[in-house]
Amino acid sequence: METLSSNNIIAQNLNEINNRITVAANKCGRSPGEVLLVAVTKTVESNEIQVLFDCEIRNFGENRVQSLIEKMNYFSGKCNVINWHMIGSLQKNKIKYIIGKVKLIHSVDSYELLEEIDRHAKKMGFVQDVLFEINIANELTKHGLESNKILSVISDAEKLFNVKVKGLMCMAPFLQDKEDTRKYFCEMRLLNEKLKEKQFENFSGEFLSMGMTNDFEIAIEEGANIVRIGTAIFRGLK
Ligand SMILES: *Cc1c(COP(=O)(O)O)cnc(C)c1O
Repeated sequence: METLSSNNIIAQNLNEINNRITVAANKCGRSPGEVLLVAVTKTVESNEIQVLFDCEIRNFGENRVQSLIEKMNYFSGKCNVINWHMIGSLQKNKIKYIIGKVKLIHSVDSYELLEEIDRHAKKMGFVQDVLFEINIANELTKHGLESNKILSVISDAEKLFNVKVKGLMCMAPFLQDKEDTRKYFCEMRLLNEKLKEKQFENFSGEFLSMGMTNDFEIAIEEGANIVRIGTAIFRGLK
């Protein structure tokens, strides 16, 4: 048997993931085109990202500012066609490095951080799109805002004009039985709907970023329209 090159392995994994996204979307009567795949590249180098680029992936997620900047610089010639997503916890002193360069910050978890992003964005004459990360299972080990605090934070966000809150993000607990994650994704969808009903100026609720390698199909069935997948894309690489 011919051994597969790393390019082929990645292409094959992507193909399989796209098929699984399609099946999950169809299962609940949604169009697979509604679901955006963000390839989480935190564990790989820029040459693997190039392989994904060649497979037509244009959305990449990183969880550390330092690597995000390095990889952005590597692909600076393609910056107008690549969307970078900041998915990891963000320190206030690093905000300035990414404002205006990332398509979406998924991981805002306090009003103070939102305000600081707004302040930097204003200075740069930019409006930054963000999501609020919710600690949906109230896990001590996870970042994110407690779900009972989001309503007041979104009310306060009405005062800010250089950030746009586009929806919610979560990481479900890693559970032995994936089916047990469903209730958290369902809670996220309901929370997003509830906030949308309030018709805030600064909450569109258009994005629900949830679902990773372990649980993305269930997340899609419960309404995710952004899935963030790393491990499954690079499985089988040396
Ligand atoms: C690493 C990471 C992912 C991807 O997780 P996999 O299990 O590798 O698919 C998604 N979201 C966040 C916030 C991450 O840090």
